[in-house]
Amino acid sequence: MPIDPICKKIVPDDTPYSTDYGGKKYHFCSDWCQVKFEHLEKSVIRMRRAIPEKERIGFGKLRKDIIKPGICTLCGACSATCESVAIKNEQPTLVAKCTGCGVCYNQCPRTITTEEGLVGKMRLAYRARSALPDVKGQDGGVVTAMLAYALEEGLIDCAIVTKKSDEEPWKPVPMIARTYEDLLESSGSMYSHSMTMNALMSAIKQGLRSIAFVGPSCNIDAVTKMQKSPYGFLNLFMRANILKMGLFCMDTFQYEGIKEFVESKNIRLEDIESMKIRKGQFEFQTPEELKVYSLDEFDIYRSSSCKYCSDMASENADISFGGVGTPKDWTTVIARTGLGYELYNEAVDSGYIDSYLLKKEEMKRATNLARMKKIQMYSVNRREKKCD
Ligand SMILES: Cc1cc2nc3c(=O)[nH]c(=O)nc-3n(C[C@H](O)[C@H](O)[C@H](O)COP(=O)(O)OP(=O)(O)OC[C@H]3O[C@@H](n4cnc5c(N)ncnc54)[C@H](O)[C@@H]3O)c2cc1C
Ligand code: SF4
Ligand code: SF4
Ligand code: SF4
Repeated sequence: MPIDPICKKIVPDDTPYSTDYGGKKYHFCSDWCQVKFEHLEKSVIRMRRAIPEKERIGFGKLRKDIIKPGICTLCGACSATCESVAIKNEQPTLVAKCTGCGVCYNQCPRTITTEEGLVGKMRLAYRARSALPDVKGQDGGVVTAMLAYALEEGLIDCAIVTKKSDEEPWKPVPMIARTYEDLLESSGSMYSHSMTMNALMSAIKQGLRSIAFVGPSCNIDAVTKMQKSPYGFLNLFMRANILKMGLFCMDTFQYEGIKEFVESKNIRLEDIESMKIRKGQFEFQTPEELKVYSLDEFDIYRSSSCKYCSDMASENADISFGGVGTPKDWTTVIARTGLGYELYNEAVDSGYIDSYLLKKEEMKRATNLARMKKIQMYSVNRREKKCD
């Protein structure tokens, strides 16, 4: 039986109030609903048709992503915009055929459907790698190469980076890098928290005025908050210009936890040459072989704060860097602000970095990971299976 799209009542097939619009017949309970349809509902129908093919997502996905995991706020936007959806037993429910037009998914306040919603504002995104032969980075070495350009050009006095502790192997220690050699020492990723803000404050107090700061989203947020906060520290930050270079980040792990894990596999931390998280696996390169373990095995060591973090791409940075999206030994770069964009492109033009525009499918891989992070608070287990 048809449903009146205005009042949502079920009406008989032979109701005298009906109209054809856009190749479909609509039925009404009364002439009042029919008049309302003529005035208003046509615009809803036009909007449905205007949604591009790739955003035509059916009710099934809304059910899977939002309703089943319990994220639905019962705002009623889906039922308000489609006669096939009604709220039953306190849940949006499909009560008639779904044409997969995508309106409900796109209108739902709990879905994220735009690129900007997933990875933040950007000017352009790139696939890049260092053109400096002695830079061996975590991915393409682009962070280190860009810092090298800024330092050698005199654009920055120092960079706040992180290096491995001399005393405890693979323990991250923040440092104020002032030379190319310092930068080389800091390249590569360590998957535990680094207290980068301590080094930043120290640099400002030492009178350094133009500073590049490298850190994952939560570190970038700390800088941003201190810059904008009405409480204290503003006077310190007025003394320095800070270029915020963000790292993509899905997780960090307790340092003692990583240590305990590798030792349980008879690997000495000091023998590990590189660590990498890829496609849901933790890789450890030893002099003899590459040891690979499922990330699931590290669950108990994951920093608890990371489970509640929803910013994969360091959205508040001037420029962000990650491994996801691009092939091995390349870095995905998202230039966001004028400062980040200009400095990065100057480094490219000056021969420090090889850079190409990011392809659509590469960006898609990055946005997929960002989506996992945004919804992880609701589905931590689901996310852990498929990280890139
Ligand atoms: C904890 C952590 C988690 C990450 N998770 C992901 C992820 O899930 N997906 C993804 O695509 N990319 C992730 N990254 C980013 C990725 O590992 C690379 O840092 C990024 O691709 C840049 O590579 P690069 O070769 O250009 O950088 P490099 O030239 O190697 O420079 C890396 C920079 O990172 C800094 N750094 C290293 N460890 C830390 C740390 N613990 N805290 C602060 N700064 C640090 C170094 O000081 C250096 O300046 C993560 C990075 C970190 C540190
Ligand atoms: S027809 Fe209705 S339920 Fe199906 S996708 Fe469109 S708005 Fe959602
Ligand atoms: S639009 Fe989204 S949040 Fe609102 S009722 Fe529908 S599923 Fe729930
Ligand atoms: S996941 Fe979030 S909270 Fe955890 S280290 Fe990364 S940016 Fe910080």
